[in-house]
Amino acid sequence: MQTDDIRDDVREVLFTEQQLRERLAEIAREIEAEYADEPPLLVGVLKGAVVVVSDLARELRLPVHMDWMAVSSYGSGTTSSGVVRILKDLDADITGRRVLIVEDIIDSGLTLSWLKANLESRGPASVDICTLFRKPARLKSDIELKFVGFDVPDEFVVGYGLDYDERYRNLRDLVVLQPHVYAPAEA
Ligand code: 5GP
Ligand code: MG
Ligand code: MG
Repeated sequence: MQTDDIRDDVREVLFTEQQLRERLAEIAREIEAEYADEPPLLVGVLKGAVVVVSDLARELRLPVHMDWMAVSSYGSGTTSSGVVRILKDLDADITGRRVLIVEDIIDSGLTLSWLKANLESRGPASVDICTLFRKPARLKSDIELKFVGFDVPDEFVVGYGLDYDERYRNLRDLVVLQPHVYAPAEA
C-alpha cells in the first residue's frame, strides 16, 4: 500500500540530495573544461532527466542552451529492446553544434545507443553522453559514456527525477523502495 508521504515508502537511501549535488558540481567542472571553446546544447531526455538537467545546468558557468527529447522504447515489461520511437523531437537544429545528451540512468544502454546514432545522423559537430547513474551489471551496449556520476547496484531505484509508475520523481534523494510498494493492491 502506498502512503501519502512519499518518504515513508523508502527502504534505503543510496545517495542523498547533497551527495548528488556535489557530484554534479564535479561533473560541471569537467564539462566546462571539455566545452571551453564552444558551449554545448544540453539535450535532456524526458521525463527522468528533468531534475538532473535542472541542477547540472545551474552548476555550469558556460552559456549552455537546453532542449528536450521524449522517446519510448518498445520492450517487454522492464527490459528495453533498443527499438525506439521519438515522442517529442528537438526544437533545435543541431547541424554543426556540439551536443551533450543528459540522462538520469543508463541500464542496458540500448535506448541511448539508438538516440546517439539518431542525433549523429543530423550532422552535429559532436554528440556525447552525460549520465548521473549507471548500472554496470546490466550494460549491453559498448556505448561511450563521457561523464558518469555514480555506479548503482542492479536494483530498481527512484527519486531525483526517476519514477515508479510516475510516482517518486520528486523525492530529493536516490532511493530503493520498500517491497510493499510493488505488492498488488488488494481487491
Ligand atoms: P536502457 O535502454 O538503458 O535499458 O533504459 C534506460 C531507461 O530505463 C532509463 O532512462 C529509465 O527510464 C529506465 N530505468 C532503468 N533502470 C531504472 C531504475 O532503476 N529506476 C527507474 N526509475 N528507471 C529505470
Ligand atoms: Mg531516462
Ligand atoms: Mg520511468
